[in-house]
Amino acid sequence: MPLSVPDIYQKLLPKTNCGDCGHSTCLAFASMVVSEKIPLANCPHIDRARLPSAQQQIDAQHAAGKWTRRDMAADALQWAKERAASMDLADLPERIGGRLVENKGQQRLELPYFTATIVITPDAISRKDGEPLNRWEQVFIYNHLAQGGRRHPTGNWKGLVELPNTVSKMKSMRSNVEVPLIHHFAGRSSELIAAGRSIGGEVIQDTDAGADVRLLFRPLPRIPVMVQFWDADSQEAFGAEVKFLFDETITEHLDIESILFLSERLMQLLCDKKG
Ligand code: SF4
Repeated sequence: MPLSVPDIYQKLLPKTNCGDCGHSTCLAFASMVVSEKIPLANCPHIDRARLPSAQQQIDAQHAAGKWTRRDMAADALQWAKERAASMDLADLPERIGGRLVENKGQQRLELPYFTATIVITPDAISRKDGEPLNRWEQVFIYNHLAQGGRRHPTGNWKGLVELPNTVSKMKSMRSNVEVPLIHHFAGRSSELIAAGRSIGGEVIQDTDAGADVRLLFRPLPRIPVMVQFWDADSQEAFGAEVKFLFDETITEHLDIESILFLSERLMQLLCDKKG
């Protein structure tokens, strides 16, 4: 028997809308399980005893194509690869950083990525340590190669709303990035610092913004991201808040969709979620 979104929501999920799965509500998560093939196990609160048989049912309906959406990640990846197809490997270190390395007679670019290294050849991108890159990571990396920017970061930070043509993305940024982080780290700012440091984040002691935590990440050499976090204050009846800041040059290096994918990946890494 196939499991529909209401079935999963009613029968399997705790309905607490805690956000620990990276989605703002249990219903949104159920919808992603059915249509986007997100594993049920991404909800850490699901009854583990019921997980294998439920996932088996869902796998069967995915295999039959029932309720699944067109594979948007595959489409986006194909588009991004086509965009990057004309890249000149030799041009990349100056444009986006990293270094060219000769390997078995073939040139490749080794590019820092969070605490890892990505290997870029004309045919593929992968992680040097053999860990997989998910398709959305590949999409924003290919788009970074294709975007053609050359400028180094200036240190002039902008919120997403201050970048051009981002109005339609603000809702996704809120629900897919900020809300899950707020749910995960409200009242736990020291855990945010530890999680940030574990993926290469640097604590910035700058109190001008009044944030409780400021973490500077360098996911890619030309693309720094600042995460500001204000923790909840029950006495002031003030809820936790998160804001991402980007260097003003980011749109020379990533298209707006890719800025969102990168932000989602950073959220997942901070919350220790599978991508
Ligand atoms: S992790 Fe997601 S699906 Fe699970 S209870 Fe929390 S919001 Fe609901």
